[in-house]
Amino acid sequence: MKTAYQTESKGYTFSTAMQEAARCLLCEDAPCSKACPAQTDPARFIRSLRFNNVKGAAETIRENNALGAVCARVCPTERYCESACTRAKIDHPINIGGL
Ligand code: SF4
Repeated sequence: MKTAYQTESKGYTFSTAMQEAARCLLCEDAPCSKACPAQTDPARFIRSLRFNNVKGAAETIRENNALGAVCARVCPTERYCESACTRAKIDHPINIGGL
């Protein structure tokens, strides 16, 4: 079940998506990526977003899963990548599914 902050962010604009990506701590060990059962690499695509490389972020997702946008909507990310997100120890996890 998505939490309130996840539901609110469904309609990210470019600017708000970049703000969310800016919250990422760029973890060296990338627990979010290790927790993905589909072996998508959220740490890598969020890192690309942080450095304004939207094309690179999209390529990271597509190279692993051509249906990445659909999967993000149906995947219970709060149980996988977001559950493992280091940022949750500070306030709340990065909205990986939303990004
Ligand atoms: S665990 Fe969270 S803070 Fe760390 S790289 Fe992944 S998304 Fe960013």
